[in-house]
Amino acid sequence: MALDLKQYIASIPDYPEKGIVFRDISPLMADGAAYTEATNQIVSYARERNVEMIVGPEARGFIVGCPVAYELGVGFAPARKKGKLPNETISASYSLEYGTAELQLQRAAIKPGQRVLVTDDLLATGGTISATIEMVEALGGIVVGTAFIIELTDLKGRDKLKDYDILSLLKY
Ligand code: 5GP
Repeated sequence: MALDLKQYIASIPDYPEKGIVFRDISPLMADGAAYTEATNQIVSYARERNVEMIVGPEARGFIVGCPVAYELGVGFAPARKKGKLPNETISASYSLEYGTAELQLQRAAIKPGQRVLVTDDLLATGGTISATIEMVEALGGIVVGTAFIIELTDLKGRDKLKDYDILSLLKY
């Protein structure tokens, strides 16, 4: 029987601020069988879409995307916070509760026409993943899917991703 992955998510009240319940994937990552099961589910999804490249935002997008890239034998490119990547980059901004944040991707990361899967640990409002998608598309990549371990359905990130296919392993 498949593992119940929800048992490996910790819910932390009042983190990072009062009134927020933080969904922590650390127990899932710490358990070899659970991490493998989550990775395998995303690998199957990626195989169906003939994914050729994976892009994930700093930092938990790497934790989700890199083992999938390894298993598929495709590349992974990190979308990083402003100022962290050398060489030519492109940027995309997105709004936070207070102010804005900026992500960057190396221009050489994506080849035009490449079939790209975008990964992160969690979909909330969709701002982070939309900024990541914007950069992939600006470089000519085709976003053939998005994959998350967790989706917070109340925050309606799905509405922002209407044009994209979404895999979320767990919903809260
Ligand atoms: P969004 O941009 O969709 O509003 O927020 C998603 C981003 O914030 C993801 O990169 C995710 O890592 C982070 N994030 C927001 N809330 C949580 C949470 O409760 N748990 C985890 N693990 N990450 C969160």
